[in-house]
Amino acid sequence: MGRGSRWALSVGEAPKPRNFCNLAVLLTTSIRLRTLSGIRLPESGARAAKLPLSVNSLTIGLLALQGDFGAHVKVFDALGVKTRLVRSPKDLESLAGIVIPGGESTVMSRLCERYDLLEPLRERINEGLPAFGTCAGLIFLAKNIEGASLTFPQTTLGVLDCTVARNAYGAQRESFQTSVEVPELNDAVRATFIRAPRIVAQDEDVETLASWNGEAVVVRQNKIVACAFHPEIEGETRLHRLWLEGIEGDTP
Ligand code: GLN
Repeated sequence: MGRGSRWALSVGEAPKPRNFCNLAVLLTTSIRLRTLSGIRLPESGARAAKLPLSVNSLTIGLLALQGDFGAHVKVFDALGVKTRLVRSPKDLESLAGIVIPGGESTVMSRLCERYDLLEPLRERINEGLPAFGTCAGLIFLAKNIEGASLTFPQTTLGVLDCTVARNAYGAQRESFQTSVEVPELNDAVRATFIRAPRIVAQDEDVETLASWNGEAVVVRQNKIVACAFHPEIEGETRLHRLWLEGIEGDTP
């Protein structure tokens, strides 16, 4: 399968719904929140069939220090699932799962340290709190980052046994959208790759849920699911749903 269509950004170009400039702002913005305007998000539950009542009674946390957590909120809204923004350790109480959004993994880890969230978050996930990460979220969950060194250290949660190479699918202007077959869904999902990480190694117990161009792009280890791309953009809800179905029945 070839790469999906690409968008080249020219200076002075008016923002369009799929203009990745907007997304760049969104993904690099720090704790001060900016609007989600200009990005097409799931509009309603119309395309997303509601989940069983047991799942709807759960509260899912969204790490909300940086990145596109707002896009994930829209997905869970469409699925009829309650969410809570997580910005301090007390926000982790009684959650059924945590989402690590796309954004900038270096900023995310520094903010987590600054807001005393790094250790509590790591501890909760190690104790079994289900986690779902997209793009920078995958990086932040991963055990190793290729090229990270003593000179350029990068702290991660280290809860997903794989090694990732940051920005390996190209620079911001090489962002692209494509579809990715997910055998467990018997269908393809819409996938947006923006400075996406490549999964270069994974332990035996890390399953590949989807590959693209022969490379794993969605993986699962126990209750952790992580994607190299952004399913949360363009109204895709099915990977969130797959993760939720896997944690159904877990008591917070
Ligand atoms: N390249 C970013 C990082 O290293 C991830 C980009 C994204 O989330 N779209 O954190």
